[in-house]
Amino acid sequence: MPLQDDFEAIVRPDEPLAPHTWLHVGGPAEYFAEPRSPDELAALVRRCRDDELPVRILGGGSNILVRDEGVPGVVIRLADPGFADIERLGRRLTAGGGAKLGHLISTAVREGLAGLEALVGIPGTIGGALHGNAGSRGGDVGQWASRATVMTAAGEVVERARDELVFAYRQSSLDELVILSAEFELDEEDPDELTKRMQKQWIVKKASQPLGHQSAGCIFKSPSGLNAGVLIDQAGLKGTRVGGAEVSDRHANFIIAEPGATSHDVLRLIDLVRSRVADRSGVELELEIEVW
Ligand SMILES: Cc1cc2nc3c(=O)[nH]c(=O)nc-3n(C[C@H](O)[C@H](O)[C@H](O)COP(=O)(O)OP(=O)(O)OC[C@H]3O[C@@H](n4cnc5c(N)ncnc54)[C@H](O)[C@@H]3O)c2cc1C
Repeated sequence: MPLQDDFEAIVRPDEPLAPHTWLHVGGPAEYFAEPRSPDELAALVRRCRDDELPVRILGGGSNILVRDEGVPGVVIRLADPGFADIERLGRRLTAGGGAKLGHLISTAVREGLAGLEALVGIPGTIGGALHGNAGSRGGDVGQWASRATVMTAAGEVVERARDELVFAYRQSSLDELVILSAEFELDEEDPDELTKRMQKQWIVKKASQPLGHQSAGCIFKSPSGLNAGVLIDQAGLKGTRVGGAEVSDRHANFIIAEPGATSHDVLRLIDLVRSRVADRSGVELELEIEVW
């Protein structure tokens, strides 16, 4: 029986994914699901395993490039408000995997809890941030994580304690299927001081990145000791276009997708940037974004 017959209320076939991503390009998901509770999520995940349907979890779509052909299998989004709760207990904040990182940061600052304010301006959800250990010069999200609750591909809920959590540059040991929630242990500080620090950080980010355009943030990881944006700039690639995709003039590691751009345009531009940088500096750039 087709998946949408058994999960009629939460599964839609052929859902366009472009509007769910920051780049706004790419094709549909074969099935798109927005479960309303952890139990419903577990039932769906088990059914996908039984039917051998590939499953992907979509957060805010700010680090993803969807191919024009679309995504086979099931794309699940934790859109229900029940997956986005944020609660305080002493110096700890717990946030659902579907909560916006920005919402967690503003809650922490308001509550006088320091650490996360350095991440202001990073779009997306708690699940996406922990999966890729999102960060900035001021630190990364993983350094504040003290516990996580995940769901495996078998639909089991498992707790991960601090000593099981390992984070590195844009990497995390949280590789189970779903990050359901996480706890962050923060330092107490004056909310006014925190607000000032956050605003300063926000101004720096806005000045250096083309935040008003369709992009997916940094396309490439910075190789150890080097800066991918500088390497791309030195290769003279700022402003280079393929179809509707362009290397940003403001920040060379951002690709802007103009209205009408295709995923294919972005992929061809990525290839071009990679080969020019390799020719000029001998560095093979590795993708930071995920291609689905
Ligand atoms: C304008 C702009 C600026 C950016 N600036 C930064 C920056 O300064 N620093 C930085 O690190 N990144 C930056 N990014 C990249 C991006 O915002 C981060 O990688 C972000 O953490 C991705 O979160 P997301 O919810 O959008 O994840 P998505 O893009 O939806 O998904 C990314 C990955 O996370 C997985 N995932 C998402 N949710 C879950 C979940 N609940 N459970 C398990 N896996 C999950 C997905 O399956 C996928 O593998 C920027 C992006 C943009 C568009």
